[in-house]
Amino acid sequence: MYLSESFIPILKNNPSEAKIKSHQLMLRVGMIKQASAGIYSWLPLGFKVMKKIEGIVRQEQNKIGAQEILMPTIQSSEIWKESGRYDDYGEEMLRITDRQKREMLYGPTNEEQVTEIFRSSIKSYKSLPQLLYHIQWKFRDEIRPRFGIMRGREFYMKDAYSFDVSDEEAFFSYNKFFLSYLRTFKRLSLTAIPMAADTGPIGGNLSHEFVILADTGESKIFTDKRIFELDSSNTNLEKLSLENMRKKYEQFYAVTDEKFNKEEFEKIVSEDNRLITKGIEVGHIFYFGDKYSKAMATSVDLPGGKKDFVKMGSYGIGVSRLVGAIIEAKYDDKKEIMKWPLSVAPYDIALIPMINKNDNTALQKANNINLELIKNDIDAIIDDTDENFSSKVKKMNLIGAPFQIIIGKKSDGDLLEFKEIGKETQNLPLKKIVEIITKQKSLI
Ligand code: ATP
Ligand code: MG
Repeated sequence: MYLSESFIPILKNNPSEAKIKSHQLMLRVGMIKQASAGIYSWLPLGFKVMKKIEGIVRQEQNKIGAQEILMPTIQSSEIWKESGRYDDYGEEMLRITDRQKREMLYGPTNEEQVTEIFRSSIKSYKSLPQLLYHIQWKFRDEIRPRFGIMRGREFYMKDAYSFDVSDEEAFFSYNKFFLSYLRTFKRLSLTAIPMAADTGPIGGNLSHEFVILADTGESKIFTDKRIFELDSSNTNLEKLSLENMRKKYEQFYAVTDEKFNKEEFEKIVSEDNRLITKGIEVGHIFYFGDKYSKAMATSVDLPGGKKDFVKMGSYGIGVSRLVGAIIEAKYDDKKEIMKWPLSVAPYDIALIPMINKNDNTALQKANNINLELIKNDIDAIIDDTDENFSSKVKKMNLIGAPFQIIIGKKSDGDLLEFKEIGKETQNLPLKKIVEIITKQKSLI
């Protein structure tokens, strides 16, 4: 893609209305455009990143056996009246009346809708467990939408729902999602800590929030530092392996302020290991048993002929919020360099030809390089404008492809001036560059 042909409306300076660096960068490089308070259009660069995040989230859901569906954004109030949440949800819910005077709403979450789908078809324990998810827009009329897409009113969420025959089986499902969340965030190159959390309006008794550290985060967190050293790569999908993994995480104190108790914290965690800091909630999982199935008369036949209400959990990931969260973690706002992890980068590589008037050699060289990159499935952006070199580099640093090739004096003959952002420049032949990128892509 040529920069001159792209829709990447870059601003010269930081927009003054943005308070945190993710919001600044997203406006600065034209990833999003505000439509109204807390509601955004996604422009090509932002949309590419969000779609890549969505792809990784989807793969990790599929790997644990969750099945993708798509529920509508607009729901009927009937099911929410059944669960009792139509009144409880309060002003965050956007309520809509259609032309027949029916009360509808824009879904803030989907427990009711998915329970309604489940109960219309599944009648027996033999069809359990069922893990269903969708990736769909949500609307919550947040009292103070802020920080761009971090706390929007309309936002993109992956929400999954589990249906099981017993508490024990439901914990098994819960643990699968727990593992899939650790894997998902790792692939996004984020360290997300699972923290014991309150269940809030979703209700229930077992819950973890997945939080990444960031000074600009809205969650205050209290942890034992040692939790950061844990790793789940040896865990498999067997019941025992999953139980052990969760125990490993739960042995360390890690809570948000809703669950914080100073006395307990100081008693359990030695002074050296205490960490009090801020973070961004990127995911939240809940187990709530029969809270909805009871209210919505959703039961299955058990082996002995009896019936019981199905046991449910729900599992959310803020897909659009993750775009901002990754920027908070990876953007050096002093140097104005964004380093997207290759797994979600809008482009794999930037080609920066130093173009002189009346001399197209560098651009032609860039075009030839690009042909070879395309053959190898490497997605490049080429700055074909005739701006000066330093402003070209500045722009590409903001766009944030993880690799750059500078085509100028030093890219002579077969050797190209190649840079992996954050590392020293090297002079390498194209073949070697392709090898490096292909190898890193294979590890995503
Ligand atoms: P928060 O505490 O940040 O308000 P929540 O606990 O209300 O979030 P959940 O119902 O747990 O949110 O939703 C699942 C995920 O959706 C959250 O972990 C978060 O990543 C994302 N999310 C929630 N609200 C918003 C929002 N207003 N804008 C963007 N993402 C959001
Ligand atoms: Mg939450």
